[in-house]
Amino acid sequence: MNRTCSLLQTDKGSASLYGFGRSGLNMRIVTLFEEQAFASANGNPFLMMHKVGDLPKDANRPQLYVSAPSLRRLLVKFRRHGFQAVLPSALTTGNLSKCFAVSFDDGYETTLTIAAPMMTEMGISAINYLVPDRFGQTNIWDRGRDSTPGRLMDRGQVKEWLALGHEIGAHTLTHPDLRSLSLSEAREEIVGSKKKLEDWFGREVRHFAFPYGYYDNSIVELVLDAGLTTAATTVPGLVQAGDDPFRLKRYNVDGKSIVQWVRDDLLKQPRLWQAKVRRTFMQR
Ligand SMILES: [Zn+2]
Repeated sequence: MNRTCSLLQTDKGSASLYGFGRSGLNMRIVTLFEEQAFASANGNPFLMMHKVGDLPKDANRPQLYVSAPSLRRLLVKFRRHGFQAVLPSALTTGNLSKCFAVSFDDGYETTLTIAAPMMTEMGISAINYLVPDRFGQTNIWDRGRDSTPGRLMDRGQVKEWLALGHEIGAHTLTHPDLRSLSLSEAREEIVGSKKKLEDWFGREVRHFAFPYGYYDNSIVELVLDAGLTTAATTVPGLVQAGDDPFRLKRYNVDGKSIVQWVRDDLLKQPRLWQAKVRRTFMQR
């Protein structure tokens, strides 16, 4: 058995798939996966990112970073394959296909300084889920867990984000695990963040993301009662027409060149992929 097939057969997850490295042949294989997945996506991808920029050497949570070149390459691919950037509410409507939504959680400064100008230039609008009681600070809710805290936008910077044509959503006041609070405390975190953002920026806030992706049915009820129209989770998966708008799946994008749904597509259909790779690379 040759090397490529054995790599495919032993692949158990993203680490080993990404572990192909960047040699010419490996990059061609990765490109093949990507092209196929983009061309045949069965649903609408909802992307989740946090910090934008090069991965610091001492970062212990690399999944929170996407580099500027990686982000640009990814967005170019979506555009080249005819995907249209929409707000989360459009992902579940029946008559839309080949849509994607771009989201950033927590409102890191680098989403304004690095990602926003790039996306504006490409005509792509994104949503930033904000934590208003932590504006201008860092992600202190991750104290002890994140070795490289990131600065969050302040009010002036969020105004700049909006002026560039991007959107904002609510992500609670202080980023707690909502399941650990009483219902009235959880309600205050949800309703309070929506109201504060609306007061500060003079626009309706309709979209919400669960801090850490943690939620249960009573939390979903609170989000619905607050007058929000969508809620984003961290459950991976493509969004299908008719999905529950209060449990939207998202794919995390990190510094690697391919998105997770490409890997999922591969793992669902390993034989098809092996045949495809064999045809493409071995019978030449
Ligand atoms: Zn968050």
